[in-house]
Amino acid sequence: MKKKIIIMMGPPGSGKGTQSKKILMHLKNMFHLSTGDILRENIKNNTKLGEKAKDFVHEGKLVPDDLINDMILTKLKEDTNFILDGYPRNASQATLLKKEASSLNKKIITLNFDIPSFQIIKRNTNRLICSKCHISYNKISKKPKKDNICDNCHSPLYQRNDDKKETIEKRLEIYETQTIPSLPILLSFTSFYDIDASLSSDKIFKTILDLLNE
Ligand code: AMP
Repeated sequence: MKKKIIIMMGPPGSGKGTQSKKILMHLKNMFHLSTGDILRENIKNNTKLGEKAKDFVHEGKLVPDDLINDMILTKLKEDTNFILDGYPRNASQATLLKKEASSLNKKIITLNFDIPSFQIIKRNTNRLICSKCHISYNKISKKPKKDNICDNCHSPLYQRNDDKKETIEKRLEIYETQTIPSLPILLSFTSFYDIDASLSSDKIFKTILDLLNE
């Protein structure tokens, strides 16, 4: 059977990261390729890539394509299944992925998380992330058992710089103007499914498993 690439599309804070982690726990031999996590890790470790990406990420803007394209496409050629989270982010990245799709020789599935903007703002400004295992929590809907401490690995939780209200509004605008135009391109060459991301996390996960088992 062909290996899979599951592309997680949707605005920031629509639940892609949470669902990615659930899929990873459920399905074997999946590699979580998250461009945001890679960039944040590089910024934290002061690498060359981190240095170049830092200002863009902190301002909620997309980093230039050339910092990301080769790294992602090289990785996707590896002989494993991928959850691709955060890529493509604009029409030119989607077009490049379309051009390379046949050489990757994998079944490519897009899960498009759909949710109104007002819910996004509410979710993101209340989001807390574990500094070690990157699990996300929510001050209202998914509180950690102990304030600001991760239930899973007991490390401190933090609010991402780009989860501040002004930055979220900027990121949503970028999603609408730059990322939405990549959707018709994905629709043209991947198996494309819309997911109602305003449902509960468990319901969304069940929908995803049903779709992946089809
Ligand atoms: P995320 O965690 O996916 O929301 O990504 C955090 C930030 O990393 C984004 O706001 C961008 O600054 C940057 N980023 C992530 N993925 C990409 C991408 N495919 N292209 C350009 N910038 C990206």
